[in-house]
Amino acid sequence: MFNFFVDEQAYLGDRFIITGADYNHIRNVLRMQPGETFLVSCAGFSHLCRLDAFEGDAVIAKIIEENYQNAELSVKFYLLQGLPKGDKLELIIQKTVELGVAGIIPVEMSRCVVKLDEKKKKSKQARWQAIAESAAKQSKRTVIPEVSEPIPYKQALALPFDLLLVPYENEKGMAATREALAKIRPGLSVGILIGPEGGFDDKEIELARQAQAHIISLGRRILRAETAAVTAVALGMLHVEMNL
Ligand code: SAH
Repeated sequence: MFNFFVDEQAYLGDRFIITGADYNHIRNVLRMQPGETFLVSCAGFSHLCRLDAFEGDAVIAKIIEENYQNAELSVKFYLLQGLPKGDKLELIIQKTVELGVAGIIPVEMSRCVVKLDEKKKKSKQARWQAIAESAAKQSKRTVIPEVSEPIPYKQALALPFDLLLVPYENEKGMAATREALAKIRPGLSVGILIGPEGGFDDKEIELARQAQAHIISLGRRILRAETAAVTAVALGMLHVEMNL
């Protein structure tokens, strides 16, 4: 079923007024007719709607069932990703959005090979956001996760998460992983910080410990940055889906 994302101004209690690119898409591309149904996602909720009429440059969509579908997790996971080389972050964004992340924050770390100037940061961010948007639609998410511009490591550690998990390639054993997962509760915001290809340097891990992060292992094999990101988010997502 088609799903359209609208902002709160479009909500009129019993219906949505859909304008702009989505109006054009519904009327001229999809050629939908009055009576057809689709989903409208607004402020994190998804409603089943029926096309009522076209009025001027707007689609009038009657709400048939509120809160028809909610694809969101009860815990907000934010992926903090050490900026990887090439277009690897694009894959990481696509996959972790499918898995349910609430947002993605690229992080500048000492072993990052790529350095982006301010202009490049802006253009990359716009591209990353577009990838998040299409992944959110494809996986029928009810919100579109935001991808921010890259931020410095220390700034990332200072973000106000309830819990910060740091999968570290040199961490041994699964005790810390189990303990950290047990701390996750509905309503919490949880940061997951993954290193770039070169991993963390000692100083960065020390700073993470000082910031009360939970340093955890993802098993006895060294994973590539993109595999680690997907694994860590999948671990959190399945823990929440199964236990909370
Ligand atoms: N160059 C490093 C590996 C870095 S892997 C080395 O050869 O040792 C990139 C990132 O993925 C790491 O910084 C870490 O955040 C994550 N990662 C990879 N394997 C992991 C594991 N087994 N446990 C926890 N984190 C891991």
